[in-house]
Amino acid sequence: VPADVRSLLTGLIHDVPDYPKPGVMFKDITPLLADAKAFSVLTDVLAGLAQRHGATKIVGLEARGFILGAPAAVRAGVGFVPVRKSGKLPGATLSQGYDLEYGSARIEVHSAGLAEGDRVLVIDDVLATGGTAEASVQLIRRTGAEVAGVAILLELGFLEGRERVERALAGAPLDAL
Ligand code: AMP
Repeated sequence: VPADVRSLLTGLIHDVPDYPKPGVMFKDITPLLADAKAFSVLTDVLAGLAQRHGATKIVGLEARGFILGAPAAVRAGVGFVPVRKSGKLPGATLSQGYDLEYGSARIEVHSAGLAEGDRVLVIDDVLATGGTAEASVQLIRRTGAEVAGVAILLELGFLEGRERVERALAGAPLDAL
């Protein structure tokens, strides 16, 4: 990402201390979404990655991955498939559990949403521990689809999520804008 685009985007991501709980620095992307130019530039970058990686589908991770992934899919000319928290998808699903700092979580995808022959770019806003992205890579592979890469707006480098996601990706690219 060129330096001017990077500074446009990062200037519109706001730090909110102690949200949703004490000790967490929440990265709020809503100012970026509200800026027509920045949101469009971000959409171009994500759509360009999808094309470069030969993606046939974009998967967005609930919930902010939906907001970033859906317009990128339209712009790249590929379909959009949501990965949701458990219990939200009406059809037959595959599901994948993963550990959180305290407790565990489960994500799901429609079994019919992806198939062998699909190449998937996974999109989310923030990479922290990498648990969500890692689980989504594992989940997507179980549909028979190939993971072409993971694209994240903002990587919290100090949490070492990258290592975990790269291990799961086994050679496919992790792009943090
Ligand atoms: P993780 O699984 O720990 O990598 O967390 C990634 C998921 O949690 C993403 O879907 C993010 O939207 C959200 N998330 C984690 N940490 C933050 C943060 N500091 N600010 C905003 N979102 C976050």
